Amino acid sequence: MTSLCVKDLIDFAVRALDEVPDEFSAQALRAASTQALLDASESVSRQFAARTFNLCAIVNAKSGRCTENCAWCAQSRHFQTRIEQYPLIDPAKTLEAARKAKQRGCSRFSLVTGGRKLSLREVREAAELVRAIRRETNLEACISAGLLNEKEFRILAQAGAVRCHCNLEAAESVFEKFCSTHSFADKVKTLEAARRAGLQICSGGIIGLGESEADRVSLALALRRLEVPSIPINILSPIAGTALADQPLLDDEAILRAVALFRLINPRAQLRFAGGRARLSQSVQLAAMKAGINSAIAGDMLTTAGTDVEADKKLAAKAGYRFEDDDALAFDRAHLWHPYASAANPPAVEMVESAHDARIVLADGRELIDGISSWWCASFGHRHPDIVKAVIEQAQKMPHVMFAGLTHEKAVELGRRLLELAPKGLEKIFYADSGSVAVEAAMKMALQYQRAASCPDRTGFMTLAAGYHGDTWNAMSVCDPEGGMHALFSGLMQKRFFVPSPSSRFDGEFDERDAAVLEAYFEKHGAQCAAFILEPIVQAAGAMRFYHPQYLKHARRLCSEYGVLLVLDEIATGFGRTGRTFACDWAQVTPDIMTVGKALTGGVMTLSAVLTTNAVADAVSSAPPRAFMHGPTFMANPLACAAACAALDVYAGRDWLKEVSRIQAKLRAALAPFAGRAGVRDVRVCGAIGVVETEREMSAARLQPEFVKRGVWIRPIGRLLYLMPPFVVSDAELDVLTSAFAEVLEEFLASDPENSL
Ligand SMILES: *Cc1c(COP(=O)(O)O)cnc(C)c1O
Repeated sequence: MTSLCVKDLIDFAVRALDEVPDEFSAQALRAASTQALLDASESVSRQFAARTFNLCAIVNAKSGRCTENCAWCAQSRHFQTRIEQYPLIDPAKTLEAARKAKQRGCSRFSLVTGGRKLSLREVREAAELVRAIRRETNLEACISAGLLNEKEFRILAQAGAVRCHCNLEAAESVFEKFCSTHSFADKVKTLEAARRAGLQICSGGIIGLGESEADRVSLALALRRLEVPSIPINILSPIAGTALADQPLLDDEAILRAVALFRLINPRAQLRFAGGRARLSQSVQLAAMKAGINSAIAGDMLTTAGTDVEADKKLAAKAGYRFEDDDALAFDRAHLWHPYASAANPPAVEMVESAHDARIVLADGRELIDGISSWWCASFGHRHPDIVKAVIEQAQKMPHVMFAGLTHEKAVELGRRLLELAPKGLEKIFYADSGSVAVEAAMKMALQYQRAASCPDRTGFMTLAAGYHGDTWNAMSVCDPEGGMHALFSGLMQKRFFVPSPSSRFDGEFDERDAAVLEAYFEKHGAQCAAFILEPIVQAAGAMRFYHPQYLKHARRLCSEYGVLLVLDEIATGFGRTGRTFACDWAQVTPDIMTVGKALTGGVMTLSAVLTTNAVADAVSSAPPRAFMHGPTFMANPLACAAACAALDVYAGRDWLKEVSRIQAKLRAALAPFAGRAGVRDVRVCGAIGVVETEREMSAARLQPEFVKRGVWIRPIGRLLYLMPPFVVSDAELDVLTSAFAEVLEEFLASDPENSL
């Protein structure tokens, strides 16, 4: 076998990022010299593994008299050792250990229990301990409690545990030599059960049991197959009385080679120094950290002195690592809730330093091209100088005053500009603070209108399936009935009438059957409804579907015929996104109520507005209490209004619709090759929106690093991978966006559904 050079080893690791290496090529790594292994693993660690050193504290919560016969273990009742025995320790002691761990800069705390597994009663006790740890310290709670099943793991997950620790210990082929009371397969089953219960997994092994280097490679591969994010590496310290009492110590070189091999096979994992490293010299520990050890178990906090932790931190700093206690990302992870995300087990986030034009600049200097305009609001580019200037000037004058009994210049100016752009017939404006609140206000307005118009029984709402109108209660009630949130709260929300989403495509022929279906709904439910609320042309977050303008004309006609208000939600589509200022301009209809938001301020401040006709406003104002009953504290916030005025100046100051059609042409060309592909349901483009709908759901968290690696910011919604770039995006930037989009999509389509991106 020819020996491998550093570059070969790095190439191997790069492939291992996305694909599980085969046994043969992994075993071939052993032919490399120790120096080559160490150089390559250091480079791979720097490129792909976390650079923030993670410290996990453990407390031994139950010790001694274990029925299992693991050859290395002092707690086995099969061996005569002088181990202290205690049942589940008391909460006070655990909490003391947890507090110490927190003080010493640990971010994880693991409750470790000896024994084959905890009983159900003990699991419940452990769950109480986990609750107490979360309540008192906010440390991330891990549990190492033997061969539990999914139900038992669920109890712990519910209490706030986020990670299950269960070592595979040794390669499958040699496992039996060291333990016969349970099997390697039992371990894998345990990890899979933990995963099904929603826990992350932490699993590694012991080196120096007498296994060969080939066995270590097999173990590292088994962990890679399970995609273990945290891998403890223990080095055997033979304990008198155990079966391995006389096992010779593994030499330094073998240990360092093992760390390097684990790193090359698991390029992204946290490799965690666990038991047995205390006997290593400082220089060997330092070399191991350089080769890939980027986390450690900080020992039993009831027995470990603070100085040990300090020593670990010094060493890790020398190896070039940062620490969590002074790391903003760690605070974010520990305390800040992100959209549609777990707080107990948060997905990774990128730290952003600044943004400009189509760019998001990360704290480490990397720049990402924003492919989705930061949820579609930064249409005219990030940090537009005119908008920023307007906000600063307004801030120096008057950041805010209430809007009851007072008004201000920017509210008036913005109103003027909005009415210039809005469909004819809209005359009254109600400012609100976010899109969802605008939808709430629009729905209340419709109800007040119907009551004033002597139709108090018109309390229902018609809307389209596959729609999205926001996350607050009423807005949610008109979102797609089967979509995530709706399903979650079904039964609690008021029932709405969901009209099937029109099938006539934006760029196709209008199918009169869509009109007939709609008409049938009006016949059946029209008399009960206050309003028909829908997103014009583009059903955005719910489906990214684009339907034919003719449909809106029918909606307008039927609403008028049946005395139902037409509410058009232009929050996603307003200000040019579809190639017209408002999407309803495609059909030249005037709604009774229209909501705008998102790009209204150019994505600089949160602001929304509800526009309506005199007919609606007059009716609402004519019946007691002769007022529209809504009024947010920050209504017409002057900073937001100033931003919106400047944004609408920016909108007026350039031919953005030309930019949108430029973007549309490029998106069409770039996405067309995906049409008809296996795994792809549909490809569609409308204005500056391009979508590929796949057969399978994508995971935003798993795709994120793939996009970031390619210098772009793209985030799928379920089965929808889409681009919605700022209109300032250059052709060159669009090329980068579309190639990254295509590459990641190709990878996703080629991936195994069981284990996909
Ligand atoms: C985003 C969106 C909303 C909700 O706006 P928020 O500002 O997130 O509350 C409502 N309707 C549509 C069509 C949207 O795209």
